[in-house]
Amino acid sequence: FFITFEGIEGSGKTTQINLLAGYLQKKGYDVLVSREPGGTPLGEKIRQLLLDPQYDSMDYRTEILLYAADRAQHVKEKIKPALEQGKIVISDRFVDSNLAYQAAGRGLDYDMVYQINDWVIDSTWPDLTFILDIDIKEGLKRARAMSLDEAGDRLEREVDDFHQRVRDAYLEMAESNRFALVDAGGTEAEVQNDIKKIIARRLF
Ligand code: ATP
Ligand code: C5P
Ligand code: MG
Repeated sequence: FFITFEGIEGSGKTTQINLLAGYLQKKGYDVLVSREPGGTPLGEKIRQLLLDPQYDSMDYRTEILLYAADRAQHVKEKIKPALEQGKIVISDRFVDSNLAYQAAGRGLDYDMVYQINDWVIDSTWPDLTFILDIDIKEGLKRARAMSLDEAGDRLEREVDDFHQRVRDAYLEMAESNRFALVDAGGTEAEVQNDIKKIIARRLF
């Protein structure tokens, strides 16, 4: 069973994944947690390239292809083998991050981004994708440990509404069957409770 977590920065993906993995392991499941970009030794090198401020002006096509290269390796080396061994695999971000950030956020052609990914993952689509939804100001405040006012000022200084487009893209995806939309604005425990309820319906 393949689960992915999506959502804007600071929505609580990493926090909730760790809680969920612990809960499932206690129930006796064999769980593998991974993340993107990263997840494999080669992928971690690609992650460094993607997050290096030195390459902030990287061409958007270069960027999407680096994400794709990372994901191809991640699926082949880690995700597929674990699924074949019957494990529950949980990935912190996956294909939908590219659709939200690179297509909706940066403006790359949606069909192109979809096709690259469809080829790269070789039919390994997630069984269930959690979308953690939070106000962009609140997310930025959490992610960058800044005050709500500072986060607001920062967002106002941005040239366009990149983060809002990313959030909206996730909300639109959430209407399809594979997705479960979770309000990430509550406490860690509240959000985890909602996630557990959904897991109980879809997995057990
Ligand atoms: P990123 O995309 O930047 O990796 P993320 O979605 O993985 O972010 P986390 O790293 O889990 O988000 O959380 C961001 C910050 O917010 C952390 O400092 C975390 O401790 C805190 N946090 C997580 N969940 C909550 C919550 N429900 N309420 C308040 N703070 C939270
Ligand atoms: O959440 P995580 O720490 O993995 O994200 C790393 C950074 O990469 C975040 O700042 C996120 O906005 C960015 N990112 C992106 N496009 C993706 C995935 C992540 O711009 N497809
Ligand atoms: Mg994280």
